Amino acid sequence: MKNVILLIMDGLGDRPNEIFDNKTALQYSYKPNMDFLAEHGVTGLMSPVSYGIRSGSDTSHLSILGYNPENYYTGRGPFEALGLGIDLKPGDIAFRANYASVINNTVVDRRAGRIKDTNNLSKELETEIDGVKFIIKSGVEHRAALVLRGDNLSDKISDTDPHNIDSKLLNAMPLDNEAKFTANVINKFLERSRKILNEHKMNKDLILNGKLPANEILLRGAGKVPELPDFNKKYNLRAACISGTPLIRGIAKLAGFDIINVNGMTGRIDTDYNNIINTAVESLNEYNFILINIKGTDIGGHDKKPEIKKYAIEETDKALKQLKSILNDTLIVITGDHSTPCSYGDHTGDPVPVLFSTNGIINDDVKRFDELSVSHGYYKIKSSDIMPLILSYSDRSEKYGA
Ligand code: ZN
Ligand code: ZN
Repeated sequence: MKNVILLIMDGLGDRPNEIFDNKTALQYSYKPNMDFLAEHGVTGLMSPVSYGIRSGSDTSHLSILGYNPENYYTGRGPFEALGLGIDLKPGDIAFRANYASVINNTVVDRRAGRIKDTNNLSKELETEIDGVKFIIKSGVEHRAALVLRGDNLSDKISDTDPHNIDSKLLNAMPLDNEAKFTANVINKFLERSRKILNEHKMNKDLILNGKLPANEILLRGAGKVPELPDFNKKYNLRAACISGTPLIRGIAKLAGFDIINVNGMTGRIDTDYNNIINTAVESLNEYNFILINIKGTDIGGHDKKPEIKKYAIEETDKALKQLKSILNDTLIVITGDHSTPCSYGDHTGDPVPVLFSTNGIINDDVKRFDELSVSHGYYKIKSSDIMPLILSYSDRSEKYGA
């Protein structure tokens, strides 16, 4: 049985870029080590979740790890909260939240004048009401997440966000009988928050300066944090995750992964690529499955900057040199969680390249790791095929039948 390193380069897939002579970032990058691994492995194209689906990082990572998002993706609330680094527990109820400006019970700006930082406000709002703990964390600008922790909670709760300006504020309404308690406690929380926000010095200063206050939080997208079956038990592995991205760490943690911290890992383009791969290799003493997520490729795609994506690919590639010497007893898998083409600036439903590389397996004819080259490779798969193939190539599959 072999150890496994699964490297997910976030948003790896690309489309032709004019400044790269109409090549993708992978085609245009210098990446001898990825090409080596492709040449000494099997390759193909992988469709995240399914063909043509524009997956988020959350749904795609769930699917790659063997959790069908149809069963385990419980809405954006819980996953946005994970993305903000809130330590969630199964059963928690999470909402996406906006700081907004409200005058006379009417929403006048759903983004509170694009306020820069609401951390000081969020700190004041955390509380406990009727045995329910309220955890709130600010994101960038007006964005935040609200989490409820306690017994007898339901996610069948309507949005309090009217989604339009000049609309009246809405109360949280229960969508079924069991949600009555939850709706009631949320409305108590919102009433309390309103008082605190209207009295807060930061809001008084904003008004004095002729700006809109952040005096309301609008809630939407309620979801219950899913209980994921333990990854280690499911596949008989000892798994750890290395990622600078809170969302990915959060999902891995819910699945039972240990989280490994790495010096210099930022989740941005300036992360320490070498130390990430080095730490993964060293961690194989303790674990036999390491999930790595590198975010820089996705950042280049969203920012429509092919040269950023190329940089992330080339820096990762340099670090991958260390993997060549462990191919006897390690399976290396490299893929993306979705495409984020620089020409498009967001996730698309295009498939992403995938490679499985280890010594002793049959190789296909592909010698380069990019969208076009691997289309001549062995596999056209969906993300849900990744774990079975990993178990098979690492000699861990159980026999199906006699
Ligand atoms: Zn992603
Ligand atoms: Zn993205």
